[in-house]
Amino acid sequence: MNSAAINSTNNFQASDFNIYNPSQSLRAKLDRRLVRYRKREVLNIRTEKPIVSFSFDDCPQSVFLNALPAMEERNWRGTIYAAMGLCETTNHLGRHMSRTEMQHAHQAGHEIADHTYSHLDANQVSLDEFQRDIDKNKAAFQALGLPPARSFAYPYGEVNFAAKSVLSERFDLLRGIHSPKQTHALDLNQAASQRLYSGADFVACRQAIRALKSKPSWLILFTHDVRKSPSEFGCTPKDFQAILDDVEAIGAEVLPVSEALDAVESHNAFAENLKSKNFKGEYFKGDTLQDNKWQEDQS
Ligand SMILES: [Zn+2]
Repeated sequence: MNSAAINSTNNFQASDFNIYNPSQSLRAKLDRRLVRYRKREVLNIRTEKPIVSFSFDDCPQSVFLNALPAMEERNWRGTIYAAMGLCETTNHLGRHMSRTEMQHAHQAGHEIADHTYSHLDANQVSLDEFQRDIDKNKAAFQALGLPPARSFAYPYGEVNFAAKSVLSERFDLLRGIHSPKQTHALDLNQAASQRLYSGADFVACRQAIRALKSKPSWLILFTHDVRKSPSEFGCTPKDFQAILDDVEAIGAEVLPVSEALDAVESHNAFAENLKSKNFKGEYFKGDTLQDNKWQEDQS
């Protein structure tokens, strides 16, 4: 493709594309609510310090160009839920990353996680087809030398009981797109996540981050394209920077999703250990363990 063609590709507007919309039937809406309460695997979150994970769905090139470098400047890393079939295609989210760019993102320390190969709606294909498409994405990761994905995000947030059950065996964490209501628990089979979108949802995102200061927990954010004129599913680089500032201001630890999961699980194991061993004395000061202050009760 010559440069003129590339430019004209990048000049497409979101309105130039037919945007897929999952079923809005009453039945689909009801099922969408009910599935959140089925096949749950609840992780209680005990952390002294807020944890924030930034996730980017699909694989817009604007994330590679604008969002990841801004995170790297603060020595932070994020998670890309990549549908490899979108690489180098253009849709309402703009141009998508090349496979080489995906490799570079991995080499820079970002987590590359799964989002099916063809960006399938789990409720519009058979479970077999859905799984085969995930296998195809896995093979695409392997071909690029990327490690197997530990985490998966449901395209369009769409899921059903069967898919939730099967995928819970394949991944450590399955991410949804519904906003978190409960701050200290997360369903690992359909983890809530907060939209990081410019526009009407932006204030809610800032509020969710600020709320972590008084009630430390783990918040997963998600967005799509990060560019000057984003789609309705993305944000501007300016808004993205504002969110990075907010996260830094509350002193949060920023980790890719799977690393954050490991951190929360080790905090939990540590807290359990402390409880069961009947320590005495003051163990925590602020958010750090005072190693020299605790003694095991031998009596
Ligand atoms: Zn997606």
